[in-house]
Amino acid sequence: MNKILGVFIVIISFLLISPTAEAQKQYTIVLDAGHGGKDPGNLGNGYKEKDIALKVTLKVGKMLSDEKDIKVIYTRKTDVYPNLWKRGEIANKAKADLFVSIHCDSYQPRPEAHGAGTFVLGLRGNKKNFEIAKRENAFIVSEENYKDRYEGFDPNSSESVIGLSLLQEENLDKSLQVASIIQTDFTQKAKRKDRKVKQDNFQVLRETVMPSVLIELGFLTNKKEGAFLNSKKGQIKMATSIAKSIKEYIHQLKLNTVVTDVLVEDTVTSDVEFKIQIASGKNKIATKSYNFKGLQNVERIKIGSFYKYYYGNTSDYQQVKKSLSRAKQKGYKDAFVIALKNGEKVSVQDAISNQ
Ligand SMILES: [Zn+2]
Repeated sequence: MNKILGVFIVIISFLLISPTAEAQKQYTIVLDAGHGGKDPGNLGNGYKEKDIALKVTLKVGKMLSDEKDIKVIYTRKTDVYPNLWKRGEIANKAKADLFVSIHCDSYQPRPEAHGAGTFVLGLRGNKKNFEIAKRENAFIVSEENYKDRYEGFDPNSSESVIGLSLLQEENLDKSLQVASIIQTDFTQKAKRKDRKVKQDNFQVLRETVMPSVLIELGFLTNKKEGAFLNSKKGQIKMATSIAKSIKEYIHQLKLNTVVTDVLVEDTVTSDVEFKIQIASGKNKIATKSYNFKGLQNVERIKIGSFYKYYYGNTSDYQQVKKSLSRAKQKGYKDAFVIALKNGEKVSVQDAISNQ
């Protein structure tokens, strides 16, 4: 009876408190106009990438500025060149929720090439990013409430390295989420050719430790698209798509927080659990063992438009370590342990000390 009452109260308080707390949260968006100053970017058809990128970026910022829960920071507002490391640092220091870098593409050999695309960090870049994320620890721990933000991050513990790769996984999920919203708007509303969401190792994306995307508005080397992107009308159209997509992404973040909390509370009663995250992505895969290299009892949880796959649910840390090596043996080299306490994600270290 007590347990049921407890769960009931927790659900009610999530319903009541969580949306309110979330509604008050300010989301910091860092907008990065590509190139600038000494670096003009591409010069297709005589247009300047750095100028078009800046104009669109400033328009996006202006469109977002009327939202009281959004705070906009620019890496540049004029014709100057902050280096790529500096751009990342601006976002990292601001503890940004999202980093958006805006560019224009070019392809001289095929001037007919056109269309808009959005990039997220590729897997090889992710390894480099992991090193940067570790290097960022120095300031992460000097920040107030870093514990909330980096989920129990302690640079001296090996569990925290696991926590960090979880954070990276989540960043990639969220980067894909915002990228797909942007691409949908580009194609459906701005009527651009869809060059899809892609992964690539843009250096500027390697420097940031939050969800980050790089947008290629279109090709300046294409006569028609170059003229469109250089026009005020074209710039407003593209900026509108980007600003609307960022608002939609934040809206989804708010919804996800509430929905996930309630769902988890509903299924978990109490105490600490450990499990292994073996995979995540947009594909919904049946949790049959033949789809997971023979691993049994795989769980699938939907978070936003992504699926996460877990294995080896247990309250015993020693047991979950065995499951981890089993998952790795099976080929899930990037598998890692996550911990839940009363259905909420906590750091593994926290969970162990609460056992
Ligand atoms: Zn560029």
